[in-house]
Amino acid sequence: MDIHEYQAKDVLSNFGVTIAPGALAYSPEQAAYRARELGGDSWVVKAQVHAGGRGKAGGVKLCQSDQEIQAACEDMFGKKLVTHQTGPQGKGIYRVYVEAAVPIEREIYLGLVLDRSSQRVMIVASKEGGMEIEDISVEKPDSIVRSTVEPAVGLQEFQAREISFALGIEPPLVQQMVRTLKGCYRAFRDLDATMVEINPLVITGDGRILALDAKMTFDDNALFRHPQISELRDKSQEDPRESRAADRGLSYVGLDGNIGCIVNGAGLAMATMDTIKLAGGEPANFLDIGGGATPERVAKAFRLVMSDQNVQAVLVNIFAGINRCDWVAEGVVQALKEVQIDVPVVVRLAGTNVQEGQRILAQSGLPIIRATTLMEAAERAVGAWSNDLKQATRVRAVQ
Ligand code: GDP
Ligand code: MN
Repeated sequence: MDIHEYQAKDVLSNFGVTIAPGALAYSPEQAAYRARELGGDSWVVKAQVHAGGRGKAGGVKLCQSDQEIQAACEDMFGKKLVTHQTGPQGKGIYRVYVEAAVPIEREIYLGLVLDRSSQRVMIVASKEGGMEIEDISVEKPDSIVRSTVEPAVGLQEFQAREISFALGIEPPLVQQMVRTLKGCYRAFRDLDATMVEINPLVITGDGRILALDAKMTFDDNALFRHPQISELRDKSQEDPRESRAADRGLSYVGLDGNIGCIVNGAGLAMATMDTIKLAGGEPANFLDIGGGATPERVAKAFRLVMSDQNVQAVLVNIFAGINRCDWVAEGVVQALKEVQIDVPVVVRLAGTNVQEGQRILAQSGLPIIRATTLMEAAERAVGAWSNDLKQATRVRAVQ
């Protein structure tokens, strides 16, 4: 789960990372009011969206008056910000963060990531702040400092000092840098983050080290033990298909293709997507409906898959081990009666009570295309969709 910049700054400041004074606003008027409360004579207005690259896309504006703040906000609120990280559809701006502007002397890149090969948290830093890490690694690869943390002892003082020296931090500022590094590491570890990124971490003219930007991503599977983090979730920034699935307790990932997949088991769902590709099609989603596919659950899954406008055929692939094919077949029949579905549906069942399952599907009188092997199912789904394209355009009833 991602959170907003202002939320990440709040989290990190509780771990000893210094930030500039700032406040959140939901309207241009409120933004101007917040700036007056903060005081000073220049402010930065920052669009709060779950994506980087806002600066280049017009989502970060330096302002020197009430009028400038209001004008900057008028350009942001209710609009979609398109950056190289959002995809062409962009992300809606519903909140802005107003921060006292800071005189920047140096910009540093600081990131903490989970390094899977060493199974450790890795600190990645560079003198070349302000640039994206992807660009730094291409243009200035030698400037990147990497350091892995031994989890048994955590980030050590000497290690944090080594990183500071490698970044060319001046001796009087090293202690601040050490505090920042240790704060980021503790936040990462204590809150089950998978990523912390401060870009830029700045050194100001008056010798302070501040996080001018902040991004944090958390491990979804650990959110249950951090209620104060889970409540920072902002559904307006998520793929609407995925938020609907999460609300229904289904494991769903939206993709760009047009063959909707309903599968029990994550591994089988991956294999199903691969086979669709092998048959020349593109999956519209990953969906694991889990072991106990009750008729209600199958119906929920159909509704979710059909709410994606791109879906032009549905492939149901169930392997009944603990489950029973006849129950699943009943679920599919019930779902097809409840949810209005106007695209071809291919069902492949295997495992316990498969004959009984096939009989239920055959006798339902519904136009279900049956398949025995996964390859056959994928070919039928891809074939059904391409045949269907030749027919006149149909109007989709959204459930
Ligand atoms: P991003 O583009 O989404 O990563 O957004 P950032 O928060 O990193 O802001 C983009 C750029 O705006 C930063 O790299 C800074 O150069 C600049 N910026 C942000 N806040 C301030 C500030 O308070 N003062 C000054 N002078 N520049 C700022
Ligand atoms: Mn940034």
